[in-house]
Parts: sequence; structure tokens; C-alpha cells
Amino acid sequence: RAKKLGRNNSQLFAEEMHHEALNQLTLEADLRRALIQEEFLLYYQPQVEISTGRIVGLEALIRWQHPKLGFVPPDQFIPLAEEIGLIAPIGQWVLQTACIQHQSWQAEGLPPLRIAVNLSARQFHQSQLIKIILQTLEATEIDPQYLELEITESAAMQDVEFTIQTLQELREMGLHITIDDFGTGYSSLNVLKHFPLNTLKIDRSFVQDIVENSSDAAIAQTIVALGQGLKLQVVAEGVETPQQLSFLRSIHCDLAQGYYFCPPVPAIEITQLLRQSDFSLKVNPSICS
Ligand code: C2E
Ligand code: MG
Ligand code: MG
Ligand code: MG
Repeated sequence: RAKKLGRNNSQLFAEEMHHEALNQLTLEADLRRALIQEEFLLYYQPQVEISTGRIVGLEALIRWQHPKLGFVPPDQFIPLAEEIGLIAPIGQWVLQTACIQHQSWQAEGLPPLRIAVNLSARQFHQSQLIKIILQTLEATEIDPQYLELEITESAAMQDVEFTIQTLQELREMGLHITIDDFGTGYSSLNVLKHFPLNTLKIDRSFVQDIVENSSDAAIAQTIVALGQGLKLQVVAEGVETPQQLSFLRSIHCDLAQGYYFCPPVPAIEITQLLRQSDFSLKVNPSICS
């Protein structure tokens, strides 16, 4: 460190850049191997109906267990996967794994839960998307109403005509469509009304200070009202405290998801939770430890 301090800023900067570039290259090479080496996992986070406390769905969230670095967050490697053209195979793996998991819960006789899968912008715009979803549904024999696709608001707004067309096809196939991170993009309401949707998901950034910050509270309330007006279900993500939940209940938000109920956990923990808890997270929100 002392040696580093002796250098001038631009040298330090160049070193850092070199370091970054190396990191990026290593990560890229590792990411290319991750699928074959089976380093990806899916975690699942319950979505809870606020009025009853029942689990109605699960969001599948990818995890990369890097052999040396440990867990690499999806916010870091999903954009990289998009950049280097790996998002299609990774996305396909996620879809397949989530559907196979659903099938295995069904086979065990557990009541069916909707499983939400995230689609990145490039995945959503990939020409094979519909075909891949059809194939996966067919192979796993899932009733399409139990497969939910989460598309971020900004991905949906990239090409409005394309989005309307694609969402229409997906809805005709019977899938459940959600706009993720709602409120962070630039939807015009005029465009939103043309999207065939089922659900709006209030971004975590508005939920975080919903109790203390009157602007965030007003935004959340407006999204809920918008959802009611458009006959869409509204989910709040990132619910961490009973106070946030109470506020969301008071504005009649439909569903909540967050650490207060349960963090994203491996499938086996969901299996145990479903067996024990009769689907209700109401009594003991910390059941997922
Ligand atoms: P997202 O879809 O908006 O997912 C919600 C994120 O919030 C998840 O982070 C989740 O672990 C986290 N979260 C849930 N409850 C709480 C809470 O109470 N407090 C806080 N602070 N955070 C909470 P995660 O799993 O790191 O995923 C980050 C993003 O990466 C996701 O945002 C999604 O955009 C993307 N992503 C994750 N899995 C996949 C995937 O399988 N495919 C694609 N394309 N993108 C994915
Ligand atoms: Mg999501
Ligand atoms: Mg989200
Ligand atoms: Mg988010």
C-alpha cells in the first residue's frame, strides 16, 4: 500500500484500469464455462398476498456460485452475459430449471404456485423467445398460467410496437406478464394502456422509505391506484419491515415480496416451507430464517 501511495494519480489510475480489465476478462472466461460446469443455481423468493398472508407465487432469481469468488451477484454478471452473447443460453437454462422445479413440486402434490422468471432486455428481444418458451412449456407440461415473465419497464419501453406484439402473443399462450421495477423507467401512461399485462411491480427504491418519505408514499399509492384502474395486480418488492407492510396494506397493494417474509432461498428450503406452513407466511414471517 505504501508503495502504491508513492505513485502519481495517473499511474494509479492506469493500474486500476488494468486490474479492472483483467478482472473483466477473467470473469468473462469464467462465465463462458459456468453453464457447462453447472455453477448456476436458482433461488426462489415467495410473493405473499397481503390480505391473507398466503404465498401465491415465487420469483426465481439466478445465483452464480463461482469456484473462487463465491457468489457473484446477478447485477454483475447478467449485464456481462448480455454483452458477450451468453444471455440466451443462460436465460434458457433459467426458464427450463424453473419449469422443471414447478413440475417436481406438482408431482409431490403441493398446490401449484406461479413461478416468475426475469427476462433481461436482450432476452426479451431475442427472436427465438416465443419458440423457446413454447418448447419449455411443452417439455415440462406446465399450465402456462403458472409461468410468469418479469420484464423491466425500461426493456418494455425500448420498442413499444415490438413489446405490444410480443406481449400479446405471450398472453395468448396463457402466460402471466409482469412489468418489473415499475416507476424507474419512462412509461407514458398512454403506452402502458396498450400493453397486455397482468401485474405491475413497484420498484424497491420506492418501498424502502415508504413510511418516512411522503413522495415515495405518494408514488406507491399512485401505482396502486393505476393498477386498480387498469385492472392489474400490484406487487411491492423489497418489503423489509412490518411498518412498510402496514402501509402497503393501507393503500390496498395486492402482493408483497421481501426479506420481511423471506429472502430468496434454494428450492429445497421452499419445499420444506411449503410442506410445513400450509402456504401461509402470516403467522411467522421469519420462518425462512
Ligand atoms: P429484480 O428482478 O428486481 O429482483 C429483485 C432483487 O431484490 C433480487 O436481487 C432480490 O434478491 C432482492 N430483494 C428481494 N427482497 C429484498 C428486500 O427485502 N430487500 C432488499 N434490499 N433486496 C431484496 P438479486 O437476486 O440480486 O437480483 C438482482 C437483479 O438481477 C434482479 O432484479 C433481476 O433484474 C436480475 N436477475 C436475477 N435473476 C435473474 C435471471 O434469472 N435472469 C435475468 N435475466 N435477470 C435476473
Ligand atoms: Mg424481478
Ligand atoms: Mg424488480
Ligand atoms: Mg428491482
